[in-house]
Amino acid sequence: MTDSRRTPPTALAPGPSSSARVAAAVRQAVGAGLLGERRPVAGFVDADGVRESVAALQDAFAGVPAVLHTFAAKASSLVPVLRLLAHCGMGCEVAGPGELRLALDAGFAPSMIVLDSPAKTRDDIRQALALGVALNADSLDEVRRIASLRPRSSASVIGLRVNPQVGGGSIGAMSTATVTSKFGVALRDPGAREHVAQAFAERTWLTRLHAHVGSQGCSLELIAAGVAEMYRLAEEINERLGTRQITSIDIGGGLPVNFEDDTVRPTFAAYAAALRAAVPGLFDGRYGLVTEFGRSLLAKNGFIGALVEYTKDAGDRRIALTHAGAQIATRTVLMPDAWPLRVGAFDGEGRPKDGPSLVQDIAGPCCFAGDVVAHARELPELREGDFVVLYDTGAYYFSTPWSYNSLPRPAVYGFSTAGGAAPDPGADTDADAVRFAPVRDAQSLESVAEESGAGHADSLLGLRPESAG
Ligand SMILES: *Cc1c(COP(=O)(O)O)cnc(C)c1O
Repeated sequence: MTDSRRTPPTALAPGPSSSARVAAAVRQAVGAGLLGERRPVAGFVDADGVRESVAALQDAFAGVPAVLHTFAAKASSLVPVLRLLAHCGMGCEVAGPGELRLALDAGFAPSMIVLDSPAKTRDDIRQALALGVALNADSLDEVRRIASLRPRSSASVIGLRVNPQVGGGSIGAMSTATVTSKFGVALRDPGAREHVAQAFAERTWLTRLHAHVGSQGCSLELIAAGVAEMYRLAEEINERLGTRQITSIDIGGGLPVNFEDDTVRPTFAAYAAALRAAVPGLFDGRYGLVTEFGRSLLAKNGFIGALVEYTKDAGDRRIALTHAGAQIATRTVLMPDAWPLRVGAFDGEGRPKDGPSLVQDIAGPCCFAGDVVAHARELPELREGDFVVLYDTGAYYFSTPWSYNSLPRPAVYGFSTAGGAAPDPGADTDADAVRFAPVRDAQSLESVAEESGAGHADSLLGLRPESAG
């Protein structure tokens, strides 16, 4: 447990709305050539917004004696973003060797890292134990495996993930506390509570309970009910053992995000209030707390900008063919009802378009018919050379690409609209105040070829039957 670095209250003063900041960033990105004909799609991270979101989270839990807020790395597995979060006092939740590597590269101390994954290998476990990274076992079999690998002393905090089986939210694939979820020990199954209590009784180094009830689509009440269930179990086990062996509770992440407009709802404050109401004992300092938020910290702090390459009419539908499709907005394209996005229309100079609106499909560049990020959307008429913006895409979108059609991964830039360049009274002041920093370079075609086996180009030719001997 560590203190979270406090952010001065001034950082929370309401800045321009996120879409005003996006508009300033788009204008300047087009002006600077970060987005244009040669760079037809890019991701953007609002660094000021990230700081504000972290401060809001820290504020919501202010006064709780020992709390470690970790960021779920999968939501933005980009080293500069992770480093910014580390600087804001966050820890990092990782789900395997790749994310662990990124967290270490970003500068998180091992004591600030939590490893969760339902399929940790022996090597994953050995590495975490050697580093002193916290681990949450996903099953009792994994507890046994950890026991067999654990050196006599390890700085790692070791916990057990439970599934309170409180039910699912509105998106099945995001619901981790259903009766048959693959995660954690299913607590309501016959005998499960007893087996969990037994595991703690046998291993004094097992000191944490973990649950992550779900993500987008789960209500605060559902999440709070799951946490309450885990809290009751911790109390029960500690009472039975006659000692406070369980010293911390990892309540997971999963706060849903509003994708309909600029407002942040629910807020971290509302989440903390729901938890306080459902589980008052959680905040009294007897337990250290760990949180693992991803989407709610980053989603509204990023956007995708993409060029409109062509438009066409098909049937009675206008279609804008852009460079943002399933390779970057994968979930939205594959599950459009679960993951709708707001789309903004900008002209060739990056200024918001107005004018009469038209029903249009916003399609991507991939070669399959379903590659459409917004169906029948009413927007100012898009034309070749315009840009579209996909709002609220700061979490998951540009860090979890799909390499369909071998499309290269787009560049990602960070930006700040706070202060910066001295305002020039004659110029477009909004845009002038925007500063950019590279987060990830666009993928080169060399890299595309390399990850597609170019280094083994001849290998199959050598597998002729006669060479089998
Ligand atoms: C994905 C994940 C999170 C973060 O979920 P969000 O919905 O992005 O907040 C937290 N904990 C675990 C174990 C996860 O798998």
